[in-house]
Amino acid sequence: MSEVFALTDALGPARVIHVHNPALGLRGILVVDNVAAGPSIGGLRIAPDVSLGECARLARAMTLKNAAAGLAHGGGKSVLVADPKMPRASKEQLIRAFASALRGEQDYIFGPDMGTDETCMAWVKDEIGRSVGLPRELGGIPLDEIGATGWGLSHVVDVAARHIDLQLRGARVAIQGFGAVGRHAARFLASQGAIVVAVSDTGGTLHDPTGVDLGALIPLKQAGRPVCDCPGGRKLGRDEIVGIECDIWIPAARPDVVNEANVARLHTRLVVQGANIPFTVGAEKLLHERGVLVVPDFIANAGGVICAAMEYHGAAQAAAFAAIEEKLRANTRQVLDRVTQQKMLPRDAAMDLAVSRVKKAMATRRWGI
Ligand code: NAD
Repeated sequence: MSEVFALTDALGPARVIHVHNPALGLRGILVVDNVAAGPSIGGLRIAPDVSLGECARLARAMTLKNAAAGLAHGGGKSVLVADPKMPRASKEQLIRAFASALRGEQDYIFGPDMGTDETCMAWVKDEIGRSVGLPRELGGIPLDEIGATGWGLSHVVDVAARHIDLQLRGARVAIQGFGAVGRHAARFLASQGAIVVAVSDTGGTLHDPTGVDLGALIPLKQAGRPVCDCPGGRKLGRDEIVGIECDIWIPAARPDVVNEANVARLHTRLVVQGANIPFTVGAEKLLHERGVLVVPDFIANAGGVICAAMEYHGAAQAAAFAAIEEKLRANTRQVLDRVTQQKMLPRDAAMDLAVSRVKKAMATRRWGI
C-alpha cells in the first residue's frame, strides 16, 4: 500500500487498479494519472517484468505529453505482467479479460504500446468499445504506417532550425534507429531539402556525407534487412552514429543512448528527440552548456498520440496530419521562446508548459482532478 502512496503528488494518480485472476493467469494494473483535461489515453504494455512503479511513471509521462500537445485528454497507462510472445489465442483471452475487468473505467482509453498492436486494440474495442490505434478496417489511422510521429518531428525540426538560424535546405541529418519513427522522419526531412548523411539500426551505422540513398534504403529496411545492406556509403559500428558530424541529430531508438560517458562525441547543433527519454538529464545539461539546442521527447514526438486522439474523435488522416503540424509547430515555438527569454533548459521549459496546462485544467474541475 505504501508503494502506491509514495507515487502520489499534486497531479495524481487519480486511480490505481489491480486486476488479478489466477484462473486465467491474469495480473494487470491500470494507473489513471490525471483526467482534468478529459479521459486519459495511454498504451497497454505487456512485458514479464512490468511493475506498478513503471506503470505510474509512464502514466505521468502521458499526462504531460497529452497536456503539452493540447489534447482534451489526460494520461493513463496499463500493464499486463506476461510474455508478449505467448500464443495468439492466450494473448487474446488475456487482453479481452483485462479489458472486460476495466469496462467501467470510462476515464481510460486503451492504446497500443510494447507488446500490443492494432489487432490487440481491435479485441479491446470489441470487448468494451474504448481503444485507439485500431486497424484501418475499424476506422483506425495506422499511425506507424503513415509516419505520424516522423511528420511531427519534421515540423519540430523546421521550427527549431529557424530558431538557431540553421537553413533546413542542405542541413546534414543523422538518425539513430530506422523504424517507424526514424525512417519517416528521414523521408519528410529529405523532402524539405535536408541531406540524411547517416542512419543506424541494431546492426550498424550507414554513413554517406553526400546523402544516403533513401529510395533504396527504405524498401530494403521494410523487407527486414539491416541498413548496412544498402549499397554505397561507409559501414560503421552501431554506436558510431553518435560521433557523426552533422547539423541535426535525431534519436529514434532506445532510452539513455546519449549519456555523460558519450555526450562529448556528439557533433551537432540541434537534437530533436524522437525516442522517449533518449538522453540522460546530465547529458542534456552538458549540451545546453555547449550551446546545442535539444528539443525534448514529449514535445517533439507527440505526433503519434495526437493522431490516436484524432482517430478516437472520428477524424480522417488528412485532418490528423494538419492537427499534428499546427500543434507541434506552436508548442515548439512556445517552448523555445521561453528558453530564450528565461534562459532555461528546454526540458524545464517544456515541463513548465505541460504542468501549467494540467493545473489550469484542474482548476476548472469541481474536485480538482
Ligand atoms: P521501431 O521498433 O519501429 O524502430 C526502432 C528502430 O531502432 C529499429 O530500426 C531498430 O533496429 C533500432 N534500434 C534499436 N536499438 C538500437 C540501438 N541501440 N542503436 C541503433 N538503433 C537501434 O520503433 P519506433 O516505433 O520507431 O519507436 C522508436 C522510439 O520512438 C521508441 O523509443 C518509441 O517509444 C518512441 N516513440 C515512438 C512513437 C511512434 O509513433 N511509433 C511515438 C513516440 C515515441
